[in-house]
Amino acid sequence: MCNLCDIKNHAAANNAHAGRRSFLKAAGTLPLWAGAIGSASFLPSALAADVTPKPENILMPDAALARLLAGNKRFVEGDVIKNPSFKNIPVGLRYGQNPYACILSCADSRVGPELCFDEGQGDLFVARLAGNYVNTDMLASLEYGALMLKSPLIMVLGHTECGAISAAIKAEKDNVDFPGHIQVIASKLDQAVRLAKLEGGKRTTEVAKENVRLNVVELRQSTPILRKLVDAGQLKIAGGLYDLETGKVSLVV
Ligand SMILES: [Zn+2]
Repeated sequence: MCNLCDIKNHAAANNAHAGRRSFLKAAGTLPLWAGAIGSASFLPSALAADVTPKPENILMPDAALARLLAGNKRFVEGDVIKNPSFKNIPVGLRYGQNPYACILSCADSRVGPELCFDEGQGDLFVARLAGNYVNTDMLASLEYGALMLKSPLIMVLGHTECGAISAAIKAEKDNVDFPGHIQVIASKLDQAVRLAKLEGGKRTTEVAKENVRLNVVELRQSTPILRKLVDAGQLKIAGGLYDLETGKVSLVV
């Protein structure tokens, strides 16, 4: 019996675990990750993601955030080093993934997480929806990324000039409802609209920041998975704002 993923006679999995343990010992990160792997052992083995095609993606939470911001700095300065092409997938990535960060991003077509963080295939686990807020489906994806794929970082990524935020401001200001399901977005963002103090031209940006803060808090407190990982120091949940004009991501929280 594999003591990590509950698979009987799973020699291949045990070899993979042994390889990971060796790497972690070398990296000096065994104590935290040993806990993370152990916490996954109660889950169905069919969901276990015991593949480590990118050893360089096994990072402590603070190192993961530093790598994300360093990639954004390269992007802003036009000094990118990663290949944005997703063609010709490397052999290791065909059978699994171990992204070092999960991103909860707006669906806006002008924002590209892999591009703005100068990362490649297999590095980021990206969940997107207009307004970058947490709902059940987004939470499920992020729990999967953090627990099963063992990503040590989640970033909620808002952006300037966000149409979803503008719609939410308009809905509150003019007391209007949008057609179809669009109003769901405005309603979800209403709390951020009401909390944001700043009026005038920068109100959209201020509400976007408030929305990032609210969703970071919601993720940090969500149970049963994320809060446990955060409390154990195995997961960091941060919030950033992408500036459409400069491409720079600034930490909000
Ligand atoms: Zn947006």
